[in-house]
Amino acid sequence: MPDTLFDKIIRREIPADIVYEDDDVLAFRDIAPQAPVHVLFVPKKSLATLNDAAPQDAELLGKLLLAAAAYAKREGFAEKGYRCLINCNADGGQTVFHLHLHLLAGTRLRERLD
Ligand code: AMP
Repeated sequence: MPDTLFDKIIRREIPADIVYEDDDVLAFRDIAPQAPVHVLFVPKKSLATLNDAAPQDAELLGKLLLAAAAYAKREGFAEKGYRCLINCNADGGQTVFHLHLHLLAGTRLRERLD
């Protein structure tokens, strides 16, 4: 898979506002936030899109969701609520082809983002 911007952030070759890290997941603030809280949860393993995830990636995908929920609880907005989403390919609005989960919070989000 070609190297992406997010691979460079994972390797600390370009800066990012990192808010969480474990062995499998890195999370950092989106550079162009669409909500008061907008954090990207990225698996350190390179998968281009959700389409490229295989059954053996089920645990990793679960870890992404659990990391996002733990962050929401830690930051104190879990009860008020938040949104997690994954864009896939062109019609989904994906622009960086390293699988990532958007966590949006801090306001009453609209039903649709488009
Ligand atoms: P997507 O459109 O789902 O592929 O999301 C890619 C996201 O990456 C967008 O919300 C961008 O604003 C964000 N982004 C692009 N470059 C950076 C960067 N250097 N640091 C943090 N977020 C970025």
